[in-house]
Amino acid sequence: MSEILPPSDLPLSNLLPSEPILLMGAGPVPIPHAVAQANGVVINHLGKTMDEVIHRVKKMAAYAFQTQSEHIFGISGPSSAAMEMAISSVLTKGRKVLVLNLGTFSARFGQMATGMQADVVELKNENEPFTVEQVKQALSKDQFHAVTIVQGETSCGVKNIHLEQIAKVVKDHGALMIVDTVCTLTTMPLYMDKWGLDIVVTGGQKGLSSIPGVSLIAYSQNAWDVVNDRISPCPHWCLDPRRAEKFWKHRQYHYTAPVPGILAIHEALRLICNETLEKRFERHEISSKALQAGIEAMGLELFIPEPFRLNSVVSIINPNQIESTKLIQYMINTFKVEISGAFGLDIVRIGQMGEQCRSHNLFKVLYALGMSFQHFGHDLDIAGGMAALEENLVKDSEHFVE
Ligand SMILES: *Cc1c(COP(=O)(O)O)cnc(C)c1O
Repeated sequence: MSEILPPSDLPLSNLLPSEPILLMGAGPVPIPHAVAQANGVVINHLGKTMDEVIHRVKKMAAYAFQTQSEHIFGISGPSSAAMEMAISSVLTKGRKVLVLNLGTFSARFGQMATGMQADVVELKNENEPFTVEQVKQALSKDQFHAVTIVQGETSCGVKNIHLEQIAKVVKDHGALMIVDTVCTLTTMPLYMDKWGLDIVVTGGQKGLSSIPGVSLIAYSQNAWDVVNDRISPCPHWCLDPRRAEKFWKHRQYHYTAPVPGILAIHEALRLICNETLEKRFERHEISSKALQAGIEAMGLELFIPEPFRLNSVVSIINPNQIESTKLIQYMINTFKVEISGAFGLDIVRIGQMGEQCRSHNLFKVLYALGMSFQHFGHDLDIAGGMAALEENLVKDSEHFVE
């Protein structure tokens, strides 16, 4: 008899809620049926079918990134693993990097670069986007090898609206522009080639509406030359892009690819291509603006001013010190909708990424939000808010085909 006994049997169905919770937080987000089905399939990761799948994933990802580059890879890991591949492949000990830190996620680049013993200079902004002037000034002090930026900072809800112009300044300086588009890719315009971005990373579970665990990265030729010229070995064997190229370009073994996740991202990207980026950007813009109008009409206040408010994740000021964990739990229990709190800030956040931007989900989350704040004693015009959401969706309904 073995000494360590198995724990009692507990099927997953006993743990999962009997009615699925609608995920309207800062990610992961709901996935389309085709994505869920693909995620249930395992095939040989080095077989002929997989060859075709990888070929298609790269082509469709190139469309999402808006790049001609062939240096596109999937990564078995969270978006942070893609960020780490970016950082660890082009930074070495002593190389100078400017980290544009707007909050939790953009700061992560700095932590990773510090781990690489790079020379990290951090420029920090609180709840407002970086300006071209700020970056110019920081760059004028030294020669930098790379600059990191986030397109949308999920933790506070700020959009770096000057990204394109900042990228130009960085290019003129001769540094590599590394961009985190985890919560923004395919929800708003981003043109990797046109804007001269060198390394762009994204995850599966946000803008793309795929599953968590498979992420994407694209290198410009410029950035790829830096990777190729590298003499010291990459510190992370799994995150070495030259090893990843074996699988993603030459169809050879690197590590066993996360087959279901790649099949899932194939379907997520296929749906994006079918929708087209233009229509998808429009759907996100209309949905998020309508939701914001509804929130404000209810009598709640948005945390970030309109000119640089991120549409992918909307931050709402928590009035009257309502305990946000209690509010969120009440929303889950009563309305089967989940939103996010925040790291340290007194806000709650509603995600507007991919499948979250469907009118039925918008109505459900706004009603739940209003009713829950009201439950905790904050008086709101719920009917007025719902009407404002509807009015804004209808106003743009000719552009808004589901
Ligand atoms: C969520 C998020 C990340 C981290 O994603 P993980 O998949 O949790 O690693 C990084 N950057 C941004 C902008 C994000 O929204």
